[in-house]
Amino acid sequence: MASGAILDLEGLQTLIDALRGRGYRVMGPTLRDGAVALTEISSIDDLPRGIGDEQEAGRYRTHPRGDKALFGFAATAQSAKAVLFPADERLWRGVRSSAGFDVCDATTEAVPVALLGIRGCDLAAIGIHDTILLGRRAIDAHYATRRGHCLLIAVTCATPAGTCFCSSMGTGPRPGEGADLTLTELLDADGHRFLVETGTAAGADVLAGLATTPASATDHAAADAVVAAAETQMGREMRTDDLTDLLFASAESARWDDVADRCLACTNCTMACPTCFCTSVEDVSDLSGDIDDRHRVWDSCFSMEYSRLHGGAVRTSTGARYRQWLTHKLGSWPQQFGMSGCVGCGRCITWCPAAIDLTVEVAALRDDAEHREATRTGALPSSTKR
Ligand code: SF4
Ligand code: SF4
Repeated sequence: MASGAILDLEGLQTLIDALRGRGYRVMGPTLRDGAVALTEISSIDDLPRGIGDEQEAGRYRTHPRGDKALFGFAATAQSAKAVLFPADERLWRGVRSSAGFDVCDATTEAVPVALLGIRGCDLAAIGIHDTILLGRRAIDAHYATRRGHCLLIAVTCATPAGTCFCSSMGTGPRPGEGADLTLTELLDADGHRFLVETGTAAGADVLAGLATTPASATDHAAADAVVAAAETQMGREMRTDDLTDLLFASAESARWDDVADRCLACTNCTMACPTCFCTSVEDVSDLSGDIDDRHRVWDSCFSMEYSRLHGGAVRTSTGARYRQWLTHKLGSWPQQFGMSGCVGCGRCITWCPAAIDLTVEVAALRDDAEHREATRTGALPSSTKR
């Protein structure tokens, strides 16, 4: 017999109510300033009903879908990174005292948060941050507190955007492991409903308190059809089996200069990326000079100062910084952390003001590498050398 449960629209509201009743701050997709953002919600009426999105390189628009789907768009403009690993966080405060100064650690408040509607790509990105920030010798205490009080309710992507390539990266459109509950929105002749599947005991506990009906084989077949249709709508794709070798062999490619002519080094791609986690620290003192707060703030390998060692920055050109970002993200990240640093969400493509597209850049690097190899082996005359 098929497992899973069915929630109707009223049932989805009872899920939100139950989460709030348990003390969770429920964060979900909402329409804000023309984009689908991730903000606090209290009702299904806060969700972007009937709203779709259009994403292309350097372009984002929302539009009416002509139906009543609540999750009929791709990944939200911001990822869960902004919730679990905020852009600005106080690490400690130093207060002048008669004996010198006292240092008080800033503790992160343990506020339970339920993330409703996150997609497979963002679920995978949280898994990457779990590995990096919780799974190594130094644990990030602030992230650990937030993550330990977080419930993840994923939603299957039914309408990927033009910049999505989660299928290539193996992270979607069906959310993988890590969600407490996974919903698939079904909107067909059998009605508007959600197939709910449990991933953890915490998810099962929440679901047990709701009025559901058992999912039928027809419901599961409808959910499979949603996934199959989404697979055909991926706007981008990327071959992944050779990325480490390709990027390491491309260190001297002329393509880096080409992309540097277009890249503004604005850092948008790294800010929007759900896996980028580079930070720096800033000290802020009050006017009296008696209190000093140390903050951790998001930083980016696209900023020249980020590569400053003694004597100056080591990546002084934009091309070198783009090469660092792409080579780390796709080439050396797997060696360092055992997984790709890219989940295929497409945000770096959508939010790049210069419309730079990493799938295009990778394809160009592969083309260059193949050309070099063909020239080396004599398959191409040297007069065609680039
Ligand atoms: S690739 Fe695009 S988003 Fe990233 S720094 Fe360059 S111009 Fe900005
Ligand atoms: S590199 Fe781009 S596509 Fe990959 S996870 Fe980051 S923002 Fe998404």
